[in-house]
Amino acid sequence: MPVVRKRQIENLEQLSGEELEAFVNSLPAGKENIEDLFDYLEIRLEKDPCNHSLRFAMQFMMENRLNFPKITSWLNDNGGYCDCKVLEQITPEWRKVFD
Ligand SMILES: [Zn+2]
Repeated sequence: MPVVRKRQIENLEQLSGEELEAFVNSLPAGKENIEDLFDYLEIRLEKDPCNHSLRFAMQFMMENRLNFPKITSWLNDNGGYCDCKVLEQITPEWRKVFD
C-alpha cells in the first residue's frame, strides 16, 4: 500500500511567516522562477493540451537554465506529475499564500 504523505504545498496556509520563509528558502529554484513557470504553463496550455508529461515545464527550465532534476522532483512530490497537474495541484495552493 502506498504511503499517503501530505503534500508540502497543501500545508502552506498553515505556516507562520517564519516557516513560509523557510519554505521559500528550501525551494529548488527562486520563488520568482517558480511563479514564472506557472505563468508560462498557463500560456502554453491555452494553446496546446497537456500530453501528460512535463514537456512545457521542461522547456521552461531549459530556457532558464534551472535545475530540472531538482525542480521536477519537487513538482512530483507536490502532485505535479505533468504540466496540467502542476496548474491544478500546485498553483492554486501557492497563490492562496503568495498572491
Ligand atoms: Zn496533464
